[in-house]
Amino acid sequence: MQVAIDGPASAGKSTVAKLIANKLDFVYIDTGAMYRACTVIARNNHLDYGDEDAIIKAIDKDGIELKSENGEQKVYSAGKDISLEIRTPEISANVSQVSALPKIRKKMVALQRKMSGQVDVIMDGRDIGTTVLPNAEVKIFLVASARSRAERRMKDFKQRGIESTQTVEQIEKDIAERDYKDSHRKISPLRRAEDAIEIDTTNMSIDQVVERILAEIEKNKKK
Ligand code: C5P
Repeated sequence: MQVAIDGPASAGKSTVAKLIANKLDFVYIDTGAMYRACTVIARNNHLDYGDEDAIIKAIDKDGIELKSENGEQKVYSAGKDISLEIRTPEISANVSQVSALPKIRKKMVALQRKMSGQVDVIMDGRDIGTTVLPNAEVKIFLVASARSRAERRMKDFKQRGIESTQTVEQIEKDIAERDYKDSHRKISPLRRAEDAIEIDTTNMSIDQVVERILAEIEKNKKK
């Protein structure tokens, strides 16, 4: 079975996708982490974030690997664990430019389809229901107000002991900017697939969102 979860930045996609994957023993694929890894590779090779041919070459040289270690998803490139590096504000600020490059998207989509192969998979991103897995049995589009997403992000930083140098207003502005870029690019922009179920999580707990999606998966299994 294929479950696609799309939506804007910080809508809780990866949190719920991981919980569902653990519960159902599905493979979880975080496609945002892959575009973030491309951005780290560009930076570490001192490349311009718009130079797609050079970035493609560097990806071929360094490679991107997603590994599951003790229930945690890790990202490796050039033999190094870059799981923390992909989440830095610098990478978040530049990932939308890199992810809009056609050759990068083509390469990542091919890789994502290959990874989903013959296994039960839950994949989260921006174009999973529309482009990567158009035949997914369950498609979810998660939304929440920009303010509530910024507040969650702030809370998440605190819980992980990360000192945020940004105010909640700044985080909200960054999130809105990234969403604008992601939904206005030419190739597979962020949008809800026609057959996706939209869930507004603004006033829902994580457990409630998980239960709601599990119910959809269950319904589908019975078909
Ligand atoms: O999901 P996350 O916020 O980590 O994604 C980081 C960025 O990667 C997004 O802002 C977007 O530019 C890009 N992305 C994408 N297509 C996907 C997943 C992520 O373009 N399927």
